[in-house]
This record gives sequence, structure tokens and C-alpha cells, in this order.
Amino acid sequence: RLEELFPFLASLEGRPYPFYKDLKGTWRGEGFDLRFVHVQGDPFATPSVVEVRYPAKAVEGLRIYRHPMGRVAVEDFLLRSLKARFRHLPFCGGSGHSGRVFVEVESPKVLRRAGAHLGQEALYLRFRVGLPASGRRILGKEAERLFRALVEHLRGFLWELDGRALVSQVQQVEDFAYIQESLPQRGLVAFVGDGAILPRESGVSQKPLRGAVPFQSPPSLRVSFRVPHKGEVFGMGLPQGLTLITGGGFHGKTTLLEALVHGVYPHIPGDGREWVVTHALAQRVQSEDGRSVKGVDLRPFVHDLPLGQDTSFFSTEDASGSTSLAAAILEALELGARVLLLDEDTSATNLLVRDARMQALVRRETLTPLLDRVQDFKARGVSLILVVGGVGDYLDLADTVLLLEEYRPREATLEAKAIAQAHPTGRAFGEPRYPLAVASRAPLPESFDPRRGRKARVKGRGLRELVYGEEVVDLSALDLFENAQVRALGAWLQRLWRQADGKTPLRELVEEVLGRVEDLFSLEEAPEVAEVRSLELGAAVNRLRSLEVRRAAE
Ligand code: ADP
Ligand code: MG
Repeated sequence: RLEELFPFLASLEGRPYPFYKDLKGTWRGEGFDLRFVHVQGDPFATPSVVEVRYPAKAVEGLRIYRHPMGRVAVEDFLLRSLKARFRHLPFCGGSGHSGRVFVEVESPKVLRRAGAHLGQEALYLRFRVGLPASGRRILGKEAERLFRALVEHLRGFLWELDGRALVSQVQQVEDFAYIQESLPQRGLVAFVGDGAILPRESGVSQKPLRGAVPFQSPPSLRVSFRVPHKGEVFGMGLPQGLTLITGGGFHGKTTLLEALVHGVYPHIPGDGREWVVTHALAQRVQSEDGRSVKGVDLRPFVHDLPLGQDTSFFSTEDASGSTSLAAAILEALELGARVLLLDEDTSATNLLVRDARMQALVRRETLTPLLDRVQDFKARGVSLILVVGGVGDYLDLADTVLLLEEYRPREATLEAKAIAQAHPTGRAFGEPRYPLAVASRAPLPESFDPRRGRKARVKGRGLRELVYGEEVVDLSALDLFENAQVRALGAWLQRLWRQADGKTPLRELVEEVLGRVEDLFSLEEAPEVAEVRSLELGAAVNRLRSLEVRRAAE
């Protein structure tokens, strides 16, 4: 019983730390139960995991959503509210993490997270508590004081939620979901609402830049959506096909592209990017010197290497800028991406274009630049959004040209066409030697074994690295926004290990594993797990140096 928890904690005063292990299990209370899911071994270890369970009756009022994403909005809101509320917990001294309470929400994205799960039968919230000690001796009185305060907060928590803010977040996210789902039938790949604030305070801050120029759609690209809650919203609709984002340096090109990358996820009200909505299967690709590539059929871009080297099942431990970009594009297609975003700044030029002069000089070309593949992408129904400042050769092929001037976009498609006609590049658009075919690969289960003869160690190291057994997977080219997503990747990779059979194609495998666990909540005991898309999980697989693949039977 929950009321027995307090005297029990007090009775531990002065005992050795492992006595805390007896907390494990469920403490039933009035209105909610408290469960110690994991109890740390010492005050310096990762803090203990505590779970609160409110029965269905108590949370009926939270079921104000109509769309599954609305439920995620509720869960996200609860976790943020809990985090804010726990700031008022009493200070509690001791060694290591003693008395510290951690609720994990790291970004303004509305994501499914293991920290909050609103199921049919109950609401679960998970967070970490550093159980107080002085050295290895339990500070039982302090623990009692801390948990009394904590329980008090949890008792009032649901009642004292800011209902208005909750409704507004749910509506925001449901409107987002509505737009995201309608993009394809409207022939669009992205929407940027008028008034959106795209730039961030700094490279390391998620906060909106103060005094930024609000986004304003060019009249010729202006569209509107009649969304379920807010009514009619206006903004720029980016059509399918090839879109160029251009303009002088520092006029906001990369900022717009970044916002589109973030726009695959909804944002909380106040973020500035609430109305930036990108196709759910959009992915940014870039060059990545030194990455490993396993068994990719690179022929659509890289072929006929010297001395007859074959690239139909290409592997390398140290890819070049162009090879890595070619691999990233083909892997994204293999995983089902429908929109690719590229920035000239981070793309190997020789894979973007080969101009007339180089065409004339170099006869034994082994690269087919993306420029010669634009028609094939269109034929496949895959759209491209390219930031270009220096490569004018794309103007001939672009469906939409967006010109940024002092952060204000203007449509320059016709102008671009006229310029393309007035200044022909003289470049030959040859028929590429190989079709844009995407071979699918089946990973072998051993690939995902993190043990390699020893105990598995899997953990994130910032947003850019995942320690996976013996290796460190470089995730810097992936768009991840929370450490919890990195941790999730580690957990999912281990699931793939059990699931892979050496025959199932990567895309199927990844989608199957992700689809099997509806609530991340049951993926791991830890609260620091957040949703990732199949595109990111696939991209992590593709960067495993231990990956082994076979060509999958079609
Ligand atoms: P580009 O890629 O065209 O060189 P960036 O997108 O990197 O330009 O933007 C250059 C700078 O302008 C950045 O510091 C960015 O924060 C700032 N910036 C971008 N958009 C806006 C805006 N709408 N209002 C104010 N500053 C902006
Ligand atoms: Mg830039």
C-alpha cells in the first residue's frame, strides 16, 4: 500500500544502499499506483525508474482526441506538464544523483515517448528518481520527504492540468496530421504556414529566433487547408517534382530546408514551426565521408570503375563524398522515402552535376550525376527539394524555383526557365547507362549481434553516436532530435537481431519490427525512448559497420 511506502523509506535510514531493492514492485494507492520498475545499485548509478499508473476512470477527461496523433499530443503534454511540476519538488541532498528527479522530454517535437502512455485501461507515466544516500548509506528520512512531496504532486497532477493548453496542443497536432495526410492528394510535398518562424536562436538551441522575419508565402504558391480545428490556414504549398530553393548566401535557404526536415514531426504551440508540415516520408540525404556501405547496387550513380570493378553489390568501409551520397539516396529509396531533401553545401558536387566542359574533357565517366536522374525520380513519383546557390544546371529541369531574398521567398520558376533558355548550358543530357533500379537487400541476423563474444553494451552518446557493442555507429547524417530517439535505435537494432532471417528485405524487416510494438512503453523499461521512423531505423542499420547483407529475392 502506498501509505506504507513512507514509513518503509524512513525505516531504511542508515542502511546500506542495496536495501532500496526492496522497493521493487507496486505500491497501491488511492487514485493511482506507484511502481518501482528499476532500482539503482548505488547513488551514482543511473537513477531508478518509477512508474505511476492512473486507472482508466481517472483519465476519461483526457480522451479529447479524434485522431491517433491527438493521443500522442495528450501524452506529450502530460510529460511536459509533469516535468514542469517536478521543478517544484523540495531540494534533497546526498551523493551522486540523490534526490534528483528526471522527466525526459528534450525537444519541442510532439513524439511518442515511453515516458507517457495513455492506454485503454490506464495512463502510465515514467520518470527517474535518484534515491537519496550519503555515500553508500541510505538517507531514509530524505527519501520519505521526497516521496511525500512527489506523491502529493501526483495526486493533484491530473486535476491541475492546464486544460486550455492541453486542448490547444491536441488541436494543433490534429490539424498538423490532417494537413500531412492530405498533402499527397493535393499534389504537394510540404506546407509552410504564413507567419511561421523558421530560424532558431542558435545552432544548439531549439528556441525560435527572436525578431525573425515571419514566413510569408509567395502568392503564386499560396494554398489553403480547411483543417478540423482552426478552420482555414494559408501558406506555401510546395508541389511534387523538383523544387529548387535558391538565393544569395545568408538569405535563409538552409533555414528553410532545415524547417522542412523538422516538419515531418508536429511541434508544440509556440515553437514557430507548428504549421510547417512535410510529407511523412521525406528524408534529408547528404555526403558522409568515411561511412561504411554494404552491398548496395550503386550502378544508377556509380558504375564502370577502372579495371572492371563491379558496383552492383558495392561495399566499402570508407566511402567518398560522392559514393556516400549515392548510397544514401539509393538506401532512402529502398526504405520507401518519397521526398529527398539535399543541400548543395553538404552534397558532393560531382554527384550533383557534371557540366558541359567536364563532359567534353572526361570521357570515361564513372558517375551519373543526380541531374541526369531527375526524370527518373519524377517517373518513380519521388520528389526532390534541392538547395542550390551555385549550380545553375538544374534550372532547366525544375518544376518550382523558390528564390529567397532577405528571408522572403518568391517564386522564380518562369524567370528561371527564361534564363535557362537564354543561357544554354551546352550540356548533353545523355541516356544514363543503367536504369534507376533499386535492389533490395536482406540483412543477416549476425549483423545485429552487439555482443561479439562479450556482454552487450548499447547506449547513445549524444545525438550523433550510438555505442552498439564493439562499434560506435555514426548517426550524424540522421535527423534525430532527442537522445531518446538514439536510445530507441539501440533497442530496435536488438529487436532486428531477433527478427532478421537473412531473407526478409530490409524495408519489410524494419517496418515489421516497428509495427509490432505499438507503444514504446513496452519496448524498454527506461523512460528515455522516443519514436523513430522506419527511415531513421533503416539509416542506422545502413551505417552499422558489422552489417552483412544478401541480395533479397524480388
Ligand atoms: P543560406 O543557407 O541561404 O546561406 P541560412 O539559412 O544559413 O542562409 O541563414 C543565414 C542566417 O540568417 C542564419 O543565421 C539564420 O538564423 C538567419 N535567418 C534565417 N531565416 C531568418 C528569418 N526568417 N529571419 C531572421 N533571420 C533569419
Ligand atoms: Mg546554406
